[in-house]
Amino acid sequence: MVPVLMYHEVSGRRPSSGFSRFSITPDRLEEHLTALVGAGFHLRSISDLSATDNEPQVAVTFDDAYASFCDSALPILNRFKARSTLYVPTAYVGMRASWLRGAESCLPIVSWQTLRDLAGQMVEVGSHGHHHDALDSLPRAVVKENLHRSRCLLEDSLGTQIRSLAYPFGYNDRNVRRTAEEIGFATAVQVGYRLHRLGSDPFAIRRLLVAPGMSGKDLLARIASDRSTPAEILRRSGREPWRYSRKLLARRRHG
Ligand SMILES: [Zn+2]
Repeated sequence: MVPVLMYHEVSGRRPSSGFSRFSITPDRLEEHLTALVGAGFHLRSISDLSATDNEPQVAVTFDDAYASFCDSALPILNRFKARSTLYVPTAYVGMRASWLRGAESCLPIVSWQTLRDLAGQMVEVGSHGHHHDALDSLPRAVVKENLHRSRCLLEDSLGTQIRSLAYPFGYNDRNVRRTAEEIGFATAVQVGYRLHRLGSDPFAIRRLLVAPGMSGKDLLARIASDRSTPAEILRRSGREPWRYSRKLLARRRHG
């Protein structure tokens, strides 16, 4: 079993209350990495995870590609010689996070030039879809177009193969997973609240959302127990009814 950590924004700013669980401070990230390295974990990107490696490994992933990643997360990752994966919603590159609500909709997203610079470092760039849409609510042809466009834009701009996808909001179903495979991705990550079993479906890689209130010690304990916290259980149980109502609304919209 391998922990795959999911971070979003790393920044010293104060987030809105609705976004607070998606934003951690640079100090907190440093505390997490210090604890992981101290416990013997190798810090990897998704594509570096190895099923044959006996060393403890952890994948470090960042969703949404906020511009603050470069100033707030990258120097820390580099200090630890950590590999990581940054998932980019391609329609928003060089723009703002306008799929979000409130103050966070103004957060800048990295530029294409920055992505080219990052891809030359220890950061794997992955796709987070094109429009940051909930893919399981869209007709299959639209999902295909969305993922194909995102992957092609990244590959053409960075000149490198894009191997991994993060489903926007984590939402996926059988059709979305098979489409991701058809498009040519090798892996896709979701939200799982559990550790990932290497060798299981590479298009349903489970990730742990690392809460900002979690200390380095808490994170190690969470990994060691691989048991969902009460807050995670609550969130997971709310996802299914929400998923059905979203899909119903989308079906009406798309006919
Ligand atoms: Zn996202």
